[in-house]
Amino acid sequence: MSVLVYAEHDNASLKDATLAVVTAGGQLGDVHILVAGNGCDAAAQAAAKISGVAKVLVVNDAAFANQLAENVAPLISGLMANYDAVLFPATAHGKNIAPRVAALLDVMQISDILSVESADTFTRPIYAGNAIATVQSTDAKKVITVRGTAFAKAAEGGSAPVEAVAANGDSGISSFIGAEIVKLERPELTSAKIIVSGGRALKDSDTFQATIFPLADKLGAAVGASRAAVDAGYVPNDYQVGQTGKIVAPDVYVAVGISGAIQHLAGMKDSKTIIAINKDEDAPIFQVADIGLVGDLYKIVPEMVEKI
Ligand SMILES: Cc1cc2nc3c(=O)[nH]c(=O)nc-3n(C[C@H](O)[C@H](O)[C@H](O)COP(=O)(O)OP(=O)(O)OC[C@H]3O[C@@H](n4cnc5c(N)ncnc54)[C@H](O)[C@@H]3O)c2cc1C
Repeated sequence: MSVLVYAEHDNASLKDATLAVVTAGGQLGDVHILVAGNGCDAAAQAAAKISGVAKVLVVNDAAFANQLAENVAPLISGLMANYDAVLFPATAHGKNIAPRVAALLDVMQISDILSVESADTFTRPIYAGNAIATVQSTDAKKVITVRGTAFAKAAEGGSAPVEAVAANGDSGISSFIGAEIVKLERPELTSAKIIVSGGRALKDSDTFQATIFPLADKLGAAVGASRAAVDAGYVPNDYQVGQTGKIVAPDVYVAVGISGAIQHLAGMKDSKTIIAINKDEDAPIFQVADIGLVGDLYKIVPEMVEKI
């Protein structure tokens, strides 16, 4: 089976999410990786070094400088004459392109896969991750998005050839106006090894910052939040972990003053070690926690900061 993986990148380097997609693609067949950008040779070189990549296709064209989905989707659907499957990371960017490719190819999209069972059968979460569906697709071309936390990241160690591919030009139906990218001083949520998340119990923005940030800084951790904390304006919504936020699976997830609603658990329950701090011993978060501290977070968290 010939497999195309769409590389998510910023022209200079690959986003981590791509590495898990390469692993998933490798379970289907020979992986070629597409780097579509402008001045993206460094990203293409990085792709060539990923273990398990047989070939890198690179499109270097002004029309792809910002990887607008309206330009990338027709490029990929054209390339699919040579491939049986195309895989995207199930990130905001991947999820913007994949359905367009599926529509252009007139096939179904197989979303957010957790495992590859065979060439046409996959598992994926449903009901906010409370059940796992096994899905089979008889489409000749498979368009798949991959949940990055479900697959190991492919390591370095490859030396794939890089082949230039002609661009299909600008579709002319969208243009790039600007991007406001939040500059994080801490690790990014989806790639962090440790995350400290705060919930409604943090009262307000100042209290959240004064309580959660020092612990995160001591641990070198990213900061996350429940939706209740985001909705109340304690932190911006890109901090949200859960069904309608980010899906994370760090080595350590510290949930502070978070009850553990299923929609929150859907975004973090695959974390390797979960530490919960909650004053209610019956809080559902303790059902998934490996380490539970029952007590007042305003006593426990400063004590942890002091002792670390
Ligand atoms: C369609 C839909 C999608 C959703 N998507 C998401 C999502 O993506 N992410 C998400 O998080 N939620 C999501 N939610 C909301 C979710 O249902 C919960 O409402 C939310 O997760 C609750 O946030 P919380 O745990 O911070 O607040 P609460 O449920 O209010 O919990 C606060 C906790 O803090 C504890 N506490 C209070 N004071 C202290 C103290 N001093 N010390 C220690 N502990 C204390 C309490 O015991 C309680 O357990 C979604 C809901 C819907 C309907």
